[in-house]
Amino acid sequence: KPSVVWFRDDLRVADNPALRAAVDDGAAVALYVLDEESPGIRPHGGAARWWLHHSLTALREDLAALGIPLLLRRGPAGEVVQQTATAIGAGALYWNRRYGSAERTVDAGIKSWAGDAGLHASSSQASLLHEPWEVTTKTGGQYKVFTPFWRTISAQEFREPLAVPEKGHGFGGELPAYDDLESWSLLPTSPDWAGGLAEMWTPGAAAGHKRLAEFVDQGLSNYSEGRNRPDTDGSSCLSPYLRWGELSPFQVWHALGSRRSESASIYASELGWREFCWHQYFHNPDLATANLRTEFDRFPWAWPGSDGSGGQHPGHESAPEEFRAWQKGRTGFPMVDAGQRQLWRTGWMHNRVRMVAASFLVKNLGIHWQLGEQWFWDTLVDADPASNPANWQWVAGSGADASPFFRIFNPEAQRVKFDPQGKYIAHWIPEFGTPDYPEGIVDLKTTRAEALEAYKGMKEVH
Ligand code: FAD
Repeated sequence: KPSVVWFRDDLRVADNPALRAAVDDGAAVALYVLDEESPGIRPHGGAARWWLHHSLTALREDLAALGIPLLLRRGPAGEVVQQTATAIGAGALYWNRRYGSAERTVDAGIKSWAGDAGLHASSSQASLLHEPWEVTTKTGGQYKVFTPFWRTISAQEFREPLAVPEKGHGFGGELPAYDDLESWSLLPTSPDWAGGLAEMWTPGAAAGHKRLAEFVDQGLSNYSEGRNRPDTDGSSCLSPYLRWGELSPFQVWHALGSRRSESASIYASELGWREFCWHQYFHNPDLATANLRTEFDRFPWAWPGSDGSGGQHPGHESAPEEFRAWQKGRTGFPMVDAGQRQLWRTGWMHNRVRMVAASFLVKNLGIHWQLGEQWFWDTLVDADPASNPANWQWVAGSGADASPFFRIFNPEAQRVKFDPQGKYIAHWIPEFGTPDYPEGIVDLKTTRAEALEAYKGMKEVH
């Protein structure tokens, strides 16, 4: 009997344990489900949809080379997977595990259906170096601080990546009806805002491997310095490839070779932050909507209020306009604005600038981190349900092992330090220094003091 291999956040044929198991089992049919209907599933943002379209196109070709058809179906995954398996008379289902609560509920439902229907259903570890339930503190709890977390897992060696499976027996049966990718309308039409994304990125595993090889060859040795410099190509730009699973963390880990150099070990620890975020998400499924440190529920965010109502932070009545200025890169603070424009144009923002832009939103504008998280969710090609909220909560001070609230990034000081020649600013804000560029929309000193005052107030209420 043929099997179904169900692709999710693992859009690759190399180092794909589910695919490997399916091919070893005989003829296989691949399935990808665009599920925006199962309860609790967070629909992809616009930039992510763009990436997904191109990534699926690349995956389809890679699978075709193995003689495996890729079926695309839209709908609640539970139903679609069952229908597909039934239609092809499958004997087995294979997939790689995912970690959101809504997704795990869907997967558990399918597994139980498969058991009842006499199908073999098997899941594998592919997207994280360590399964969240395997990494526990000495007392069996969840790590809430990064350093001991990473010390524990990085001391281990991780398995070698799996090779692409050999071309197996093709599926000789009749394929059930499936969707045309175009019918999903994942690409923007009018206006087509994706031109800048296409200039910067080539989605798909082949492009991911090329970038990884270039980075290891040319960027890695200088990473410890370069990673902080938005005016250079100092970081790897591998995040969307990891997000969509076009590259696996095992492939990246092993490509680093010896991790004895300072740069390689810092780079490896960034993969560790990725793991840490996913583990937090596994343990806190509502990471995008609830403060991990619940005292932040009392923080008087300017907009919306912590109860979801309108603004309440005195002095911030203009928060909605300030939010729009932040989105558009018109705050008058060039480090923030350059980042927001880079994000809008390319679907990516440098990590240093993400921290500065996020800090400015939550601390200087006093706007709720969830609004920033949602904007990033819609505009980042690497937006994922773990790293995005975990990092927003890190900046806001409400997260696990978060940056202390009183550490408020000064966008001007950050600019001088990390863009010393002004190259990054000049690139993204050509009108900088002319009358067309706005004045700062807030006073950094006053808003900083207000933020600290609000934090003090939050701590004092019992
Ligand atoms: P590199 O510096 O080359 O790092 C290598 C890889 O390590 C990255 O590709 C990424 O997979 C991982 N990584 C690095 N830093 C982090 C981190 N702090 N948290 C988690 N993983 C990390 N990253 C995402 O992948 N998706 C997101 O949705 C996301 N949202 C963010 C939101 C905010 C407010 C902030 C401050 C950071 C966010 N990050 C997110 C983390 C980080 O900014 C990006 O991973 C990084 O900029 C990607 O560029 P790179 O591949 O060149 O990174």
